[in-house]
Amino acid sequence: PAAPSRSILEGLDAEQRAAAAHPGGPLLIVAGPGTGKTRTLTHRIAHLVTERGVPAEHCLAITFTNRAREELAERLAALAPAQAPAVTVATFHGLGARILRERHGAAGLPADWRIADDAERLAAAAETAGTERLGRRLLADADRPEPDPDAAEAAERYRKALRARGLVDFADLLRLPVRLLADDPALLAHYRERWRWISVDEYQDVDEQQYTLLCLLAGADGNITAIGDPDQAIYRFRGADVGYFLRFGTDFSGAASVQLGRNYRSSATIVDAAVAAVAPSSLVPDRTLRAVGSFSDPARIGVHAAAGPEAEAEFVARTVDRLLGGISHHSLDSGRVAHDGADGLGFADIAVLYRTDGQAGALMTAFNRAGIPFQKRSHDRLLARPGMRLLADELPHQPAGPLPERLRLAAAAVCDRLGDRADQATDVRTAAELLRPLAESHGEDLPALLAALAVGAEVDALDPRADRVALLTLHASKGLEYPVVFLVGCEDGLLPHRLPGAGPDPAAEAEERRLFFVGMTRAKERLYLSHARERARHGATARPARPSPFLADVPAALTMPVDAETATRRRPKDRQLRLM
Ligand code: ATP
Ligand code: MG
Repeated sequence: PAAPSRSILEGLDAEQRAAAAHPGGPLLIVAGPGTGKTRTLTHRIAHLVTERGVPAEHCLAITFTNRAREELAERLAALAPAQAPAVTVATFHGLGARILRERHGAAGLPADWRIADDAERLAAAAETAGTERLGRRLLADADRPEPDPDAAEAAERYRKALRARGLVDFADLLRLPVRLLADDPALLAHYRERWRWISVDEYQDVDEQQYTLLCLLAGADGNITAIGDPDQAIYRFRGADVGYFLRFGTDFSGAASVQLGRNYRSSATIVDAAVAAVAPSSLVPDRTLRAVGSFSDPARIGVHAAAGPEAEAEFVARTVDRLLGGISHHSLDSGRVAHDGADGLGFADIAVLYRTDGQAGALMTAFNRAGIPFQKRSHDRLLARPGMRLLADELPHQPAGPLPERLRLAAAAVCDRLGDRADQATDVRTAAELLRPLAESHGEDLPALLAALAVGAEVDALDPRADRVALLTLHASKGLEYPVVFLVGCEDGLLPHRLPGAGPDPAAEAEERRLFFVGMTRAKERLYLSHARERARHGATARPARPSPFLADVPAALTMPVDAETATRRRPKDRQLRLM
């Protein structure tokens, strides 16, 4: 064992250390944003494999996105370089796919099974339903969390039709392994023996299948560490149920629970404002969350009222410009902003968060005009395709850590060529066809290029090293952090989001408020909340828009109105540093 003075646990505070050093058995770490949950998880695994003698191949860490998976793997590699490669770090779907690959025979699949693309899914559905039109309806129903009995039966026939072709759909990646493990005690014992130490981040967002898979793998008294924050449960619309988190103590006998109350990420202003804003819908009644970070220049939360979405985007662009001390200075600096610690800001330190993807257009226009570099995947729907996501998870060619720039460029080039066909039946094979000539002229191998393309949905596609402002939906911002955050479109009907004509839905509204909380707590130093006085939505003409009711729950003493001209500047010293 390592000498105590060099213990991995030294990077943690006393509460975090208690969690990371927990001897074994079920453990729930429930804590607010920025309290170091993910950090504690990483340290716990590193501690287990380097200081507790747990063989790394017995450890399984589960995340929700590929981006989170990459980050976890990277941090683990830094803490425990020798052992990290043997730890299984996977998304839920990646884990399911791994089990299916190993046990395809038992699942009734050929060895070369693969994920059906949209056209193949439709063909199977049409065959099942008799006509393509009904097939489309069936497809829509098949993915519903609780289909009615008729639909469920039809969906079962559709899946059989898929399987007869050696295909599975995205839902099968969890459903089939769950069935295999539930039906075969010997197989279950095999996997329990293999993954004796399980950790799951963002446990508040598990759905029924994910939960069942975990319960099977862990057993009632297994070494399962679940980490999360009920107030950040934001995937109800996708079938997630925060109830699983809340009843962890009953599901796993003798479960220990640890709370972390120190927020290392954000200024006290941001923490206090966010806690007040989520309070009416909080699922953690006795929440204690206090900021411990020291910020030399604590800023109030800037609230901006814009005439419309274009003016709002203009406000964001100008404020970015001011925060960085003028883009012209930046470009003199040969395209790089000096990252001089806490004193200098670069583009990569800034994120703009919004509720719906449609809000990104105005922002991109304003950024392009102002010469502000940004990153956002413009073909989200293509890249979010299950098959693509899966490839990113599973291809052996995928390099550990972020992808090399040349692969990103190749992927971007293919996305451009796919262009507006992206939301039609563009599939992995089409992408492969387009990639082949590129692969030949890059001298890259095709699987590596496909993996690059597959680095999935918007959040996964963000390159943490690129010096660009990040444009993200609120949902995609989960788990991330930025020194400066703009949360735009804080308007009633947009955040909280409501479809036209929809009646009141308190549960949905509560979830929207938690989404607002997630967005606010991404910010470390500066947070701007903006809204437009009118906005065109759902293809209609511009209509007056009211500020979000959530804004009224942010204590006025912590905010100040800002416009583009008064937006806080960095201290002059910093600008001089930059110019040197
Ligand atoms: P979220 O709920 O948003 O996912 P989290 O609880 O997972 O947040 P982390 O992302 O792990 O929080 O940590 C937030 C920030 O605080 C990170 O920058 C992390 O490095 C830092 N941090 C956490 N714990 C400590 C610590 N003990 N000492 C120094 N920095 C810390
Ligand atoms: Mg986290």
